[in-house]
Amino acid sequence: MVSAARAPSAAVSVDAARHILLGALGRMPAEEVPLSDALGRVLAVDVVAATDLPGSDNSAMDGYAVLASDLAEARPSSPAILAQGLEARAGRPSVEHRPGTATIIATGAPMPRGADAVVPVEQTSRVRAGIAFDGAPLPGAHLRHRGEDVRAGTTILGAGRRLRSYDVGVCAAAGMARPWVGCRPRVALLSSGDELVPPGAVPEPHQVTDSNSAMLTAAVLEAGGLPVPIGVVGDDRAAISRVLERARDGADIIVSSAGVSMGAHDHIRECVAELGAVDQWKVAMRPGRPLVIGSVGATPFLGLPGNPVSSAVTFLLFARAAILALQGATTLLPSLMPVVLAEGLEKPSELETYVRVRLEWTEDRLVARSSGGQGSAMMHSLGAADALAILPAGVAVFAAGRAVQAMLLP
Ligand code: AMP
Ligand code: MG
Repeated sequence: MVSAARAPSAAVSVDAARHILLGALGRMPAEEVPLSDALGRVLAVDVVAATDLPGSDNSAMDGYAVLASDLAEARPSSPAILAQGLEARAGRPSVEHRPGTATIIATGAPMPRGADAVVPVEQTSRVRAGIAFDGAPLPGAHLRHRGEDVRAGTTILGAGRRLRSYDVGVCAAAGMARPWVGCRPRVALLSSGDELVPPGAVPEPHQVTDSNSAMLTAAVLEAGGLPVPIGVVGDDRAAISRVLERARDGADIIVSSAGVSMGAHDHIRECVAELGAVDQWKVAMRPGRPLVIGSVGATPFLGLPGNPVSSAVTFLLFARAAILALQGATTLLPSLMPVVLAEGLEKPSELETYVRVRLEWTEDRLVARSSGGQGSAMMHSLGAADALAILPAGVAVFAAGRAVQAMLLP
């Protein structure tokens, strides 16, 4: 780590700052969890199919299992009639098909031995002598073959994947009842500022509701971390240092909000430098230019700016990525989509700028329209946004209709 004395004050790009942050992170150990706790967790070990999927040849339809050659002559003008035979049911062992008959079969029931095709019930009719078929099925019709989806031994989900509900289903199907996942990092959260009052309290005119604590707690949960609430600390150097030392021991990473800019009462950076190191504190971005990346003792530290939108955006780009990286995730950022700007936008050329937008499909393109006021204290447009349109550094003027990338808000 860079020592406090060399704390770099030149702004770096978002990517470079993230690189600095991620480079200092370790990796959580792995644990086994039941599938009921697997949602949102990051696989530490590949999931390998224990058996073929499906495990046996079975029917894809409700209908009749037949020997296709028994119906070779069936035509709409001269249907073939087969006597009703045995029944093949889901959950029952495979039955023996009697040639010249039609075995009633349910979706998912094992294919009767000796039958080679399934005719859906809606393509048949019941007649006095049995079942009438007005067409010749091809051998293999409406049959699901053993292993056609997955062969035993195939890796179906790779280590580093963050499990979605679908993936939990895939684990279950593969016979993986207790996947190995990265342990959830403990994320100490503290808000700083003399002006803060808790949500629900009516603020005096000189006070501000602490919305960051609640938002960041929720964001930590979304990222798979375990929030460790440290609470609110005033703009007091000694108090901040005490709280940081307390936070350090029970956390895998510390995330604070506010007190990181140039004001006379912004103490976070000095306190972190004293107790550990500041590796970076300016990022060429908007919102969220001041950002402290460092450590308190050996615990990684991230000081987010206080303005709520700056807090939210820097959490998404840095803290969330760090919490996912600690768990071993390979994808650290939300998905990007190509979008077209609905209106022209201007920004300082040197700042990579994140614009809160709504997305709407118009004719043949995804159009991004500002979701409201873009001030870094303006929460309304954040709540109304689907995504953050990314206006890259090096360009100041973006004409309406220009294509950019948008990061979907998780
Ligand atoms: P600071 O970074 O301390 O200069 O704070 C920047 C702005 O963010 C100020 O307007 C603060 O009142 C506001 N702010 C700081 N912390 C919070 C918080 N926890 N919740 C909502 N707003 C905050
Ligand atoms: Mg402050």
